[in-house]
Amino acid sequence: KEVASCSGRRTYHDDMAKVLYTESVIQARVSELGRQIAQDYQGKAPLILGVLKGSFMFFSDLVRAIEPCPRGLTLDFIRASSYGSGTESTGEVKLKTDLRREKVEGRHVLLVEDIVDTALTITTVSRFLLEECGAASVATATLLDKHERRKLSYRPEYTGFVCPNEFVVGYGLDFDEEYRTLPYIGVLKPECYSHLGIEAPEPDGSGESGD
Ligand code: 5GP
Ligand code: MG
Ligand code: MG
Repeated sequence: KEVASCSGRRTYHDDMAKVLYTESVIQARVSELGRQIAQDYQGKAPLILGVLKGSFMFFSDLVRAIEPCPRGLTLDFIRASSYGSGTESTGEVKLKTDLRREKVEGRHVLLVEDIVDTALTITTVSRFLLEECGAASVATATLLDKHERRKLSYRPEYTGFVCPNEFVVGYGLDFDEEYRTLPYIGVLKPECYSHLGIEAPEPDGSGESGD
């Protein structure tokens, strides 16, 4: 890892051009979403399904905010990655999961995502749950909705914030696996990726992404 390319910027905080959503703004919105989900899922014994890795922080805050907690609520995780060559995604989303029909059949599933962008990921995951696992229903809670970049039409049932068309990091979201632990969401300074010879990273850029 070329730490030297960020000389002068000693912490991840120093790499932020701007903060879009502060920690307190995120926490307030997550509480609202949690209360709404608790109401909507009373009596439905929901299966809360985190889409890894990007959703890990939103997931852990959101599940604690689902109050009063519906009886029968359980949780699980699924890993979704899209693979691209160069800066273009193939549009193919791969799922890694041990979820099978016996765990999902008849359940009301709530997918928890960090961000819905093109909607290829969330569409692939919800098809898998409905068609191969026999879920009774599938809904999505996403912290961010970057709806300008949709390739498939998809409207999440629960959205934290409608997000501008910029590459964002923090609160679970990464750039090349970095910045996930920040408690806020921000945009990187251009010099943080200029050493890669690109202006701004593509969310589905080279190698494995989309998680
Ligand atoms: P999709 O295009 O399939 O809707 O989004 C796939 C995944 O790309 C998201 O779950 C997320 O992991 C990643 N992604 C999309 N936009 C951004 C972004 O602005 N920043 C980061 N860090 N990841 C993104
Ligand atoms: Mg990523
Ligand atoms: Mg994601």
